[in-house]
Amino acid sequence: MTTPQNTPPAYGLTTEQVQKLQEQYGKNELTPRKKQSFLRKALHIICEPIFLLLLIAATIYFILGEPRDGAIMLVFVIGVIGIDVTQEWKTDRTLNALKNLSAPRIQVIRDGRQEEIESADLVPGDIMRIAEGMKVPADGKILEANDLCIDESSLTGENEGVWKAAAGKAEPSSDYWRKDTCYAGTFVLKGSAVVQVEKIGAATEYGKIGANVASAPESRTPLQKQTDSLVKTCSIIAIALFVLVCVFTYLNLPDHAFPERITESVLSGITLAMAMIPEEFPVILAVFLSMGAWRLAKRNSLVRRLPSVETLGAVSVLCVDKTGTITRNQMSVQDIWAPDGDTQTLLETMGLACETNAYDPMEKAMVACCEANGIGKGHLFSGTLIREYAFTNELKMMGHVWRHDGEVLIATKGGPEKILDLCELSETERQITEHRILEMSSQGLRVIAVGLEKPVDEDAIPAAITDCKLTFCGLVGLCDPPRESMKEDISRCTKAGIRVVMITGDNGITASAIAKQIGMPNADRIMTGEELDSMSDEELRRRVRDVSIFSRVIPEHKMRIVKALKDNGEIVAMTGDGVNDAPALKYADIGIAMGKRGSEVSREAADLILMDDDFTTIVDTVRDGRRIYDNIRKAVGYVFTIHIPIAFSALLAPFLHINPADLFLLPLHVVLLELIIDPTCSIVLERQPAERNIMVRKPRKPNEKLLTPNLLWKSVLQGIAVFAASFTTYFSFLQQAPYNAPLARAMGLSIVIIANLFLVLVNSSSYDFAYASICRLAKDNVMWATLLGTFAMLFLILYTPLCGILKFAPLTMGQFFLAIGIAAGSVLWYEIVKFHSHATAKHKNSN
Ligand code: ADP
Ligand code: MG
Repeated sequence: MTTPQNTPPAYGLTTEQVQKLQEQYGKNELTPRKKQSFLRKALHIICEPIFLLLLIAATIYFILGEPRDGAIMLVFVIGVIGIDVTQEWKTDRTLNALKNLSAPRIQVIRDGRQEEIESADLVPGDIMRIAEGMKVPADGKILEANDLCIDESSLTGENEGVWKAAAGKAEPSSDYWRKDTCYAGTFVLKGSAVVQVEKIGAATEYGKIGANVASAPESRTPLQKQTDSLVKTCSIIAIALFVLVCVFTYLNLPDHAFPERITESVLSGITLAMAMIPEEFPVILAVFLSMGAWRLAKRNSLVRRLPSVETLGAVSVLCVDKTGTITRNQMSVQDIWAPDGDTQTLLETMGLACETNAYDPMEKAMVACCEANGIGKGHLFSGTLIREYAFTNELKMMGHVWRHDGEVLIATKGGPEKILDLCELSETERQITEHRILEMSSQGLRVIAVGLEKPVDEDAIPAAITDCKLTFCGLVGLCDPPRESMKEDISRCTKAGIRVVMITGDNGITASAIAKQIGMPNADRIMTGEELDSMSDEELRRRVRDVSIFSRVIPEHKMRIVKALKDNGEIVAMTGDGVNDAPALKYADIGIAMGKRGSEVSREAADLILMDDDFTTIVDTVRDGRRIYDNIRKAVGYVFTIHIPIAFSALLAPFLHINPADLFLLPLHVVLLELIIDPTCSIVLERQPAERNIMVRKPRKPNEKLLTPNLLWKSVLQGIAVFAASFTTYFSFLQQAPYNAPLARAMGLSIVIIANLFLVLVNSSSYDFAYASICRLAKDNVMWATLLGTFAMLFLILYTPLCGILKFAPLTMGQFFLAIGIAAGSVLWYEIVKFHSHATAKHKNSN
């Protein structure tokens, strides 16, 4: 692959060149995104057992010599397929949109301008800028390198970071993996670089390894697995009952001729089988989860893996970084203290120990403080920086070596215990200092100690910061106030049975003071990183039950904390932003990365990306997770309920010696009902707002089944009630006028359809009464549409020529209102149950 050499790198490619190259090389993707064709999707749905059943039924109609019935059946089948395909299409679109939102982006120079594009749009020849925490998106030659260290373990298996240099500056070597090239799929551990892309997509070294690393297949979610097995169980029962009904109907028809006798009985059996297979479940899941994820994305929380939506509602422990998530990450210097009163030296040394181009909010605050005290940046950084002792999470301190007016200065700052260890202090000096540290940190201030060394010359500069012999300059106390909403969020979590655990590199007393300010329970249960290191896994497991703060930890500790919590059976959500946080984020049930300040590596390991880095969003997301799960439950219960009248009437017919032609529900009518059930469910129930008590109850138990015995009971009872009401009405009409099966059926079916609406109202909340749902409904256009849609459909099938075709007879006004009344009665009794449970709940509360 050749790359255009004629354009100077600083200018990058031109728009035309990019276009041409894009046509030539395509997208920078390992495996091209596949698009499923509409036809394939339809075919996929037709192969589901339920549709095979429908097709068999249609065929039988044709065999029976009733092509009109067969044709109607086919039309309905197409309708149902249409609904399913649209829903799947919508789901796919939603998921793709989500994927695009979280797609990695990269800085490039094109047309001489710097811009940010999706990594997938890179072309060979592009000039890109990579930096710490990023995943390299393509293979390329390094033009400029700045302290660049790359983790190439995904390619080479070597765990050590590789130091890179710009082309021409690297030592020549014959290694296959070049030092002046960076490779797609590797991580930038440190530094930054400007890189000219050479190879993209499958042509990269990473791409060559094979598609196996490219994309893990989307595995089925725990809920999907549960519903899969539910569908399977129901299908097996359906087949058994199918045979049973076939045999009984056959025995019931001694006066029918041979082929008809068989086809009629098969038809009855199919009606039952169709009613028994809950094929809606997978659709419900897909729609509810993807729509849920979509709604979350609109509220700043990006779900990267769909199963996380299910898990969210079960979260029992939130492990949160203090700085930036709990606090605002807006620091300011609140207090300074120099033991000898020389605050000038203290401030100057502090300033010198900061980056000249401060990025860290704490360092920004320090430099600002210097400026406020008359020590301008120009004066401060007028010397030459000759050496840096880099900050590491383990050391928690850093230093800069400056040459200023012929003098060499080592300015250091960091965690007091670390800096003080390098200072020579008398016993009393040390005691006074410790007292001040305690004083500052108990106010929730982050305390930084500052130390200075003046070596005689450059040769006397120690090799490591730990070898310095410092003079203690003093202490600086920085305030990083907690986010305003923290107090309320913590109390929401506490009420919802969710424990919040604070994780910080800061000192325990500081963290504890902040925890107290925001009302965290157990704010004085602190464990330090050192204690954690000295503990066995078992001991840690015991201790994490009530520890609220982990202080002075390094990212590597997070893994052990998550593991201990998970071993205790907790469902753990954990935040992280750094490269080193990635393993813990992966291991946690819900890994949460920060969209703003997080590294790409952490985002890639996470299940959830928090676009606004705000703790409130985490709590809202958990709440929404609970809501979505609730709604899935409601939908599943509803589907059960509505299938019961269908199944029972098919089951009962042969025993009541009802002539197959006079059946309550012919296969035709079952499909008609399906046409109503699916949309009601996925539109109305999906949108249900959260229950009032959603954040007052304990998290769901992770091993709890979707279909709890309680839910099953409720659904079955409601279903039986609707069945009893509709079937009894049908049967009594059938007895009154034996030759008017269409009228009986119209009555029965109207009752089922209207009852369906009432069911949605009653079951949209387990606590609020139906009238509350009606009040909500009044404000919601979609609910109105559903309501009107249902009545329009009833009107169509009762009072247009469709009526006869569908084997109905029109109802009189009186009969219609009777149907409404019976339907209402068959469902609204459940309100009394709710009332009763309200009363007992109140009774319990007052005790
Ligand atoms: P947190 O987990 O709260 O973000 P950090 O890991 O950023 O904490 O910092 C932990 C500790 O390391 C701080 O309390 C401070 O003592 C020290 N520290 C952090 N950043 C710097 C810095 N730029 N210079 C010196 N010390 C620092
Ligand atoms: Mg920090």
